[in-house]
Amino acid sequence: MFKHKKKLGQCFLKDKNFVYKAVESANITDKDVVLEIGLGKGILTEELAKRAKKVYVIELDKSLERYANNLKERYSNIEIIWNDALKVNLNKLDFNKVVANLPYQISSPITFKLLDRGFDLAVLMYQLEFANRMVAKEGTKDYGRLTVAVQSLADVELLCKVPPSAFYPKPKVSSALVKITPREKYKIENKEFFKKFLRAIFQHRNKSLRKSLIDSSKEFGLEKSEIREILEKFIKEENVDLSKKVFCYSAPELIEISNKLSRYIE
Ligand code: SAM
Repeated sequence: MFKHKKKLGQCFLKDKNFVYKAVESANITDKDVVLEIGLGKGILTEELAKRAKKVYVIELDKSLERYANNLKERYSNIEIIWNDALKVNLNKLDFNKVVANLPYQISSPITFKLLDRGFDLAVLMYQLEFANRMVAKEGTKDYGRLTVAVQSLADVELLCKVPPSAFYPKPKVSSALVKITPREKYKIENKEFFKKFLRAIFQHRNKSLRKSLIDSSKEFGLEKSEIREILEKFIKEENVDLSKKVFCYSAPELIEISNKLSRYIE
């Protein structure tokens, strides 16, 4: 009997309907090279291997090797990488799509690592609460730093909710499948500044954008009086509106403001 390791997020999919939903939503063909994160017992890997040209699977837990060997005997297009997905150099793998039932404890860092590497399309399973934050609209309670960071790099769509009963062992919370399509619609001129800007303003999501920038002046290495002065000049010269509450600005609006403001602060 395999002993599931909670700290590795080992809730394995048992309802095949969601396996098919993930694979079909990713529109896998024999031209695709797919990356999967987390082998488990290989329920998703097998369906990917049936359709794709090649499947890379990154798995941390070597005690799952017998499931990997069983799959590799039947499919010649699977390559397993026994490592922590956060440590693997993704640029060395030639995948164009990602399909995975993610270990939830690495949801955020692995998503940004993948977006940094780039891909055509990903269909990923997240905790429902995390998925809701990724797809949230401005002005809603789920809208925050994660939303803007993701939506500034990709289109995100919640495909379906997945109940705890679809997994073994049953997790305490619901999950969701999310489709991510990267795009470069909005150009972020200074990525480091944009990160700092989001960290600063979402510390005060219910305040006006102007007030939140002033209250987080330390993030920019400035005193409140210094940033107040900069913002006065900025508003006058660029004719930007910083009066709305932080969480009411859309991702493209925040990118535009960050692009302009970076020229005043850095
Ligand atoms: N794909 C399988 C399925 O759907 O049944 C397993 C999904 S399970 C939610 C997550 C898998 O990721 C587990 O097999 C776990 O051992 C593995 N895992 C956890 N942390 C990992 C990490 N940092 N890098 C790679 N794999 C990891």
